[in-house]
Amino acid sequence: MPFSLPSLPYAYGALEPYIDTLTMEIHHTKHHQGYVTNLNKALEAHADLQEKTVKELISNLDALPQALQAVVRNNGGGHYNHSLFWKIMSVKGPLEPVGLVAEKINKKFGSFDVFKDQFSVTAKSVFGSGWAWLCLDSNGDIIISSTPNQDSPVMQGYEPLLGLDVWEHAYYLHYQNRRPDYIASWWSVVNWEQVEENYRELL
Ligand code: MN
Repeated sequence: MPFSLPSLPYAYGALEPYIDTLTMEIHHTKHHQGYVTNLNKALEAHADLQEKTVKELISNLDALPQALQAVVRNNGGGHYNHSLFWKIMSVKGPLEPVGLVAEKINKKFGSFDVFKDQFSVTAKSVFGSGWAWLCLDSNGDIIISSTPNQDSPVMQGYEPLLGLDVWEHAYYLHYQNRRPDYIASWWSVVNWEQVEENYRELL
């Protein structure tokens, strides 16, 4: 199988009380695993595509056979987005941006608080299932964006630095309908050291 579920870099309970253990376990072992399983199944008869990275696959959906485009979009996107999502969370790091990302955010938004407000509004405004993102656009400018379903910023030519999953499966057990409370809590588990690393990898 070309793609596999990455291990979490922490225990399922590590993000308590902000994200509960059972949500993390189901999210990782059922939802993310489901995207990986479906992606592998879709590529079973396509040895050439199995050689590609998931990012290569979803960055250029038009190059895929028509019959594969939707399934790779949804499940490749789901695999790629969640692989990033687990890494950008931790309870150990600083609660504010660091390094070059901190400079970029301050320059673009004026302050971390203004950025946080705008990102939170974007996350709250996603209708139904989707994601909020901090990305670099093709000019290297730092931007807030959102995507529906499991679409990824790389499908729009952006490079994601930070992403927030606002599908109900990410929060419903603990927060029920209170997405704004989940978003407010999530800021306590952002791994800003990793966000900085994501940025430096693009330089
Ligand atoms: Mn999810």
